[in-house]
Amino acid sequence: MKAPSVIVVGAGIVGSCCALELARAGVDTLVIEKGLSVGWEASSRSMGSLRIQGREPAEIPLAVEALRRWRELASKAEFEFVEGGNLYLAEHDRELDVLRSLHEQAVSGGLEDVRLLDSRGVERLVPLRDGASKGGLYSPYDAQCDPQRAVAEVARLAEQVGARFLLGERVTEVLVRGEKVRGVATAAHGSIMCSHVVVACGVGTPRLIRTLGLELPIKAVGVTQAESRAVSVTFRPTLRAMRFSARQRPDGRLVLGAGLETRADQFVSLSDFTRLVEWLPRYWVHRRNIRLSFDLWPRGWQYVRGGVEGRSGELAYPGPNQALIDRAARGLSSVLAGSPEIVIDRYWIGLVDHTLDGLPVIESLDRPAGLQLAAGFSGHGLGIAPAVGGVVAAAVLGATPPLDIGAFSIRRFAAGRVPIPERFI
Ligand SMILES: Cc1cc2nc3c(=O)[nH]c(=O)nc-3n(C[C@H](O)[C@H](O)[C@H](O)COP(=O)(O)OP(=O)(O)OC[C@H]3O[C@@H](n4cnc5c(N)ncnc54)[C@H](O)[C@@H]3O)c2cc1C
Repeated sequence: MKAPSVIVVGAGIVGSCCALELARAGVDTLVIEKGLSVGWEASSRSMGSLRIQGREPAEIPLAVEALRRWRELASKAEFEFVEGGNLYLAEHDRELDVLRSLHEQAVSGGLEDVRLLDSRGVERLVPLRDGASKGGLYSPYDAQCDPQRAVAEVARLAEQVGARFLLGERVTEVLVRGEKVRGVATAAHGSIMCSHVVVACGVGTPRLIRTLGLELPIKAVGVTQAESRAVSVTFRPTLRAMRFSARQRPDGRLVLGAGLETRADQFVSLSDFTRLVEWLPRYWVHRRNIRLSFDLWPRGWQYVRGGVEGRSGELAYPGPNQALIDRAARGLSSVLAGSPEIVIDRYWIGLVDHTLDGLPVIESLDRPAGLQLAAGFSGHGLGIAPAVGGVVAAAVLGATPPLDIGAFSIRRFAAGRVPIPERFI
């Protein structure tokens, strides 16, 4: 195989966006993906919300730039892309405080068109049963896409401008000589040389960079979603309430999640003793959002040690939490006008790569030189990936990054305690 200049490990949305920007800049790029298609793990299981509102302040500039790029991508490729905004819905007066604080955060982050609505304002955006809402917070900025198709299309655009994709191959090690990256070792193709490696492996990232002595505190948590048959009520914004979240596809189908009170599943394993003192406060703050699972059969000893990762890096998924989604569907139906029946066609679960502080790691390292990290997106990666692609490509080309990424350095985890994120996802 012809040696590329840059190897991107992982063909999720982040790796695919990096490959697109690198190839556009004329860099010979090879993407290596262990799955049999692009978007094998989190990216194709995402809800599809391209959200700016409700992001951590440090992420807002990335999210704004990313949305601009999503618009451009949608104009060049064939995937569902709806600029319908995002609506937080309060069903009870007590929830209005959460919306006020989200509103303050949005305005101080420069999102001046985000506005608080009374129940009439909410009903103008979504057909609701009388009295179902106490108010809302609406952002006109946000959009939605079909993630599975979007990641495939981004990869296709990358291929069109010269990026190559090697699917079904696992990278086992990043190779270094002296203090510089010189390539990767793979399971079936041996060593492949290059001058830069971009690690965009989602939950697989800690395992790969551990071979370089780097530690990235990530927990893999399983989040369930579902898709329903078409319903007759129509709305454009992505809806988020305490007990449900939903976006409506153009054909009327709903993509459903369990809302701000979602519960994610996490296998408990011996690996959880690493940095336990730092993770415990985070568990405590978000204890209502996490369901710990001690059920080890039939996953066996390897998962006792490594959590969702088996000995060679294969992932074990908890089963989807159908009861949680059924409850969300009932909750949504109870607020919509006419209380339509929501019939679920399929449930699925995806693994979110949660970091300790809920922020990603996006960094070009000095040691080893030539290593770029883009991982730990903590449930926000689909939305911001196109901007991350631009930042990573600039770093590889030795240019100043188009956006400030100082908050996303991996060094923050070694420098002491990091803040606990306010929201679970
Ligand atoms: C249920 C769910 C709903 C979500 N909803 C949203 C949403 O609405 N909006 C949003 O912005 N985000 C959402 N997210 C988060 C978003 O999906 C992720 O942040 C994003 O997909 C991360 O992309 P990635 O490319 O970093 O990771 P991934 O998509 O996981 O890609 C990493 C790739 O690396 C490959 N890989 C790993 N290790 C190796 C190796 N050693 N060698 C070769 N290949 C390897 C994997 O197979 C995988 O394909 C959601 C996530 C889940 C699970």
